Amino acid sequence: MDTCRDGEADMNENLTKVTSTMNKKVHTIEDDGITKLGINKIEVTAASPNSFCADGNENTNPVELLWSLGKDFYIPVAKVCGKLVMDEDIRSLRDKECLTDRVLDCYLSQLVTVHNGLGRKVIYYNQTQMTNIINCSYQIPEVSDCSESDFDADVILGIYHRYYHWTLLIVEVKKEILYFYNPCGERKTEMRKILSSWRKYEKDYREKVNIQTKVSDWRITSTPHTNQKDAFNCGVFCLMFAEKHLSGDLKCLMTVTSADLKHMRKAVALKLMEGKVFLTECCPKCAKSIEGDESIKCSTCRRSFHFKPFCIEEDLADIKEAEHFKCRLCRINFWNEEESHYNLRKHPLKISTRNKRRPGQR
Ligand SMILES: [Zn+2]
Ligand SMILES: [Zn+2]
Repeated sequence: MDTCRDGEADMNENLTKVTSTMNKKVHTIEDDGITKLGINKIEVTAASPNSFCADGNENTNPVELLWSLGKDFYIPVAKVCGKLVMDEDIRSLRDKECLTDRVLDCYLSQLVTVHNGLGRKVIYYNQTQMTNIINCSYQIPEVSDCSESDFDADVILGIYHRYYHWTLLIVEVKKEILYFYNPCGERKTEMRKILSSWRKYEKDYREKVNIQTKVSDWRITSTPHTNQKDAFNCGVFCLMFAEKHLSGDLKCLMTVTSADLKHMRKAVALKLMEGKVFLTECCPKCAKSIEGDESIKCSTCRRSFHFKPFCIEEDLADIKEAEHFKCRLCRINFWNEEESHYNLRKHPLKISTRNKRRPGQR
């Protein structure tokens, strides 16, 4: 499973690799830790779980457009908490698809930012960090200022994944309680493992950052919830658990319906697309600098793409004789007028004569 890393630089560097091996595996729920036990009866509820997301009545176009495509474009369409979101991330939020890692990382980063804005100190550990902690394969980061200890936070949350299945750990630091959420149901053995790993992590963390050792009396618990009964909704459940836990609205987790899950998918897609980004200072496909490289301008949005197979090959393949180069997103009218005219004003129309040449041809 590809794992999101912090920062756009890493994202950019790995974009080609990431997109070529995109995580499209179907998540199975057959690992040894997951059984078919304890599936709560799903009851119909009129109210969808409240979401910090918009309700979806406005500006649904980018999501609907991307969902209606025949295939992934592997192109950045939004930027959330400094991370680029690709069209395939938004498309992974369609019903019965497995969410990509980036959807979880971006949405949870954003959720944590919202709660920090409300005055709570909430820290997000990305899925590599949290999974490494549970597997005891972590490295404590260098902390320059030990007054900024993670253990001073109110809440630490992160995704713990194994065997292509996502689970969520929420640490209420001040209460010294770990809340473990496994969409398929929590088992005592895995909870014991998590508790023991967390205790070890805290001890190592405190030693490393030289904080007065205060032995926390951690305990672990779970919260009753409707169980996942398919192979593709574990990510959606985890996002819902995180959102409801932070807002203290745990009751509705008992009656999650498939309609709620679908609603959540749409709401998450809309929330991420609030960061819709019209990249102009780099190649809009690979998001890397274009300076000094051979490039080609889209005749509609006027943005420059690398004249390389990864960046334009598929776009060129769709172009008929005598047509100007027009990028994928322009071909589906993804940009609104304001966005697509931004560059037109900056760069008056002057079509390159090499439009019809294929990358690699001289
Ligand atoms: Zn490029
Ligand atoms: Zn374009």
